[in-house]
Amino acid sequence: MDSKKIFLSFPHLGGNEMHWIEEAFKESWVVPLGPNVDHFEHQLEDYLGRCRVVALSAGTAAIHLGLVMLGVGQGDEVLCQSFTFSASANPVLYQGAKPVFVDSEAGTWNMSPIALEQAIIDRFKVTGRYPKAIVVVDLYGMPAKMKELTAVAEKYGIPVLEDAAEALGSEYCKLKCGTFGRFGALSFNGNKVITTSGGGALVCPDEEAAERVKFLSTQAREAMPYYYHKVVGYNYRLSNVSAGIGCGQMEVLPERVARRRQIHGLYKELFKGVPGIVVHDNPSSDFDSNFWLTTILFDEQLGFTPEDLRQYLLAQNIESRWLWRPMNMQPVFAEAPFYGDGTAERLFGHGLCLPSGSILTDDDVVRVAEAVTTFIKTKI
Ligand SMILES: *Cc1c(COP(=O)(O)O)cnc(C)c1O
Repeated sequence: MDSKKIFLSFPHLGGNEMHWIEEAFKESWVVPLGPNVDHFEHQLEDYLGRCRVVALSAGTAAIHLGLVMLGVGQGDEVLCQSFTFSASANPVLYQGAKPVFVDSEAGTWNMSPIALEQAIIDRFKVTGRYPKAIVVVDLYGMPAKMKELTAVAEKYGIPVLEDAAEALGSEYCKLKCGTFGRFGALSFNGNKVITTSGGGALVCPDEEAAERVKFLSTQAREAMPYYYHKVVGYNYRLSNVSAGIGCGQMEVLPERVARRRQIHGLYKELFKGVPGIVVHDNPSSDFDSNFWLTTILFDEQLGFTPEDLRQYLLAQNIESRWLWRPMNMQPVFAEAPFYGDGTAERLFGHGLCLPSGSILTDDDVVRVAEAVTTFIKTKI
């Protein structure tokens, strides 16, 4: 095999990251917090609009603190999208609360507003209480049906936390993802649209909430000359060195998002006329995904599994990945109630994530599409 390996989503540096890291070293700001963290937060606020942002050590930490801020505690129930990465739901367990999973709808692959309302009504019947929060995900960058979901959430007075870890740069009705819930979580892990090598942020509605999040994420030290604590604290702030990578990455974010969308467009073009494959796309003009990952669905009748195609691509030195295995199919969440009609489970059974990183060349994308097409043709 002499062709170079094509990865799913590889870090793509802009060139200015080292400048910001050197700034940190020059001033010995090699600590959590510092000027790079402040600058990175302001860049994110300018980009997202109408919000305050607190940079944290991971997207998972952002979801955790979002739940803390919403008052989620021992014994509470939290409604979570079932079709997602486990980090959307694990923080519910950190709080001693119970996840209740809600299925997706076929248009966005995100939380079904209908299943959400059914879940809320039924949980009230079973427990006599409404769930404490709703965690909605913008999966693969595709915005969830926020208008419908928010309407249901408001009807029952339940706050929404938007897990936009995969959706930085995506827009719904011309507004940026991450800003739709009471809180929004972002991730800058190595495989996301931009990276800080590892990091995240919590998008907050106002200054007061942001100050509280900063307080909780730096060990909840009260303003006293000695260490004095009234509530549980966390060590969740982003390092000033990592934030420097983020400052450089923010300078190229619009280009990175544009390139992911271009790659998605190229796949659509290349799969035109190939029978049995559908490229997941924006369901209407309200939706403008960043296409963090381009995903395909293939016809069940073709009689192969995602693993068959994944192995075939791997033999061509191409990395691909199964769609997220729904949380209601995970042993760790075996006890959690589930509401839905099996939509996510069906998607999981006949889809695949294709290489989508902004660092890919057009030739790389053509190579992937040709390999998929060759495989499909042997099945028809
Ligand atoms: C990546 C991801 C997270 C977690 O973010 P980390 O920064 O890796 O902790 C949470 N939710 C979703 C949907 C993700 O894709």
